Amino acid sequence: FAGSFTQQEPLPEAAMRAAEAVLSSGRLHRYNTAPDALSEAARLEEAYAAWQGARYCLAVASGGQALQIALRAAGVEAGETVLTNAFTLAPVPGAVAAAGARPVFVETDETLRIDLQDLADKIAATGARRLLLSHMRGHVCDMDRLMAIADAAGVQVIEDCAHTMGARWNGVRSGNHGIAGCFSTQTYKHMNSGEGGLLTSDDPDLMARAIVMSGSYMLYERHGAAPEAARFADIRLTTPNMSARLDNLRAAVLLPQLEMLEENVERWNARYATVERGLAQAEAVATIRRPAQERKVGSSIQFRTPGFSAPACRALLAAAAARGVELKWFGAAEPQGFTSTHASWRYAEAQDLPRSDAIFATLFDMRLPLTFSLEDCETVAGILRECVAEVAAWAGTLEAGSLEAGAA
Ligand SMILES: *Cc1c(COP(=O)(O)O)cnc(C)c1O
Repeated sequence: FAGSFTQQEPLPEAAMRAAEAVLSSGRLHRYNTAPDALSEAARLEEAYAAWQGARYCLAVASGGQALQIALRAAGVEAGETVLTNAFTLAPVPGAVAAAGARPVFVETDETLRIDLQDLADKIAATGARRLLLSHMRGHVCDMDRLMAIADAAGVQVIEDCAHTMGARWNGVRSGNHGIAGCFSTQTYKHMNSGEGGLLTSDDPDLMARAIVMSGSYMLYERHGAAPEAARFADIRLTTPNMSARLDNLRAAVLLPQLEMLEENVERWNARYATVERGLAQAEAVATIRRPAQERKVGSSIQFRTPGFSAPACRALLAAAAARGVELKWFGAAEPQGFTSTHASWRYAEAQDLPRSDAIFATLFDMRLPLTFSLEDCETVAGILRECVAEVAAWAGTLEAGSLEAGAA
């Protein structure tokens, strides 16, 4: 297979024209607007709030900044415990640490979603008041049950939607269940501005603080989906400016992509379905169950090989790579690229997460860029099936060999 797992599609023509217009205006900073003009950043906030169905939206410099600002604007204090998923990406516990709080990880189940029993147990054990819920790799948990658990315990939920922009649970958009939703527009996510983030909320006080924190100086009235000016009166001078603005160039290239998002979700899901169908035929593979209430965005796919030892998992990585298929494995002792797990986040206290570790041990991940055709997806699934079968046969021989050696 010769396709590139990191090659995204070119930006649409409209994005290129919009970028040129911003470049030729020279007005790249979001507050550098002509009199009475609405900046591209403000227009993006307005459009994204409408699309998401949220009252307010703030454009920021990255998804990680959206998380960090959401935590701070929600009132996280130094030393506070913040619960978060054991299965997530490094910027998530990183945002908790940056806000001065202590991440405590909640176990992951076989569907790669947060373990709701462990969540309830850890709320009770730690007395935590906040959960930074990561919909890692787009797996949305039972949000009705999760919110019932959180609400009953008075726990505030902030959603990391880096992989669920466009996803829903029971018809409600991911990001609209908790007090705030945090999105990334980094190149590998669902809209591409290189770097960028969006924070949405219906809470006017949280959003007023977030806007001042993002570095609005006193120009918050020039935002696209902000609370009324009166909401800023009490907090404008007591909220620090943390400089995390999005610029007009990035906002301009995002606006036309928002119009294509629903269509792209369908395109991702068609690719996902093709690979999933192919993988389901491999005996040694456990595909990840997706509940009917979830409307996913299949921009990547995960699967497990429950019978495989660590050497067998490494052999699978190598066999797939030799045939051009780029897999990531979450079971390695050292992180490879984005596959880090709690054991490598050593600024956090060491924690026992046996259930998650057992899942990571045989968990594989693969990106599904829109530059792959459905035929490419068939090809990739076929290669993976063959590689899994080869490795399973090889591992079986080894095991039989060691049994014989033991008997002798
Ligand atoms: C990418 C990502 C983020 C952070 O987004 P950046 O824009 O890269 O800062 C947060 N959470 C998850 C799960 C991600 O994949």
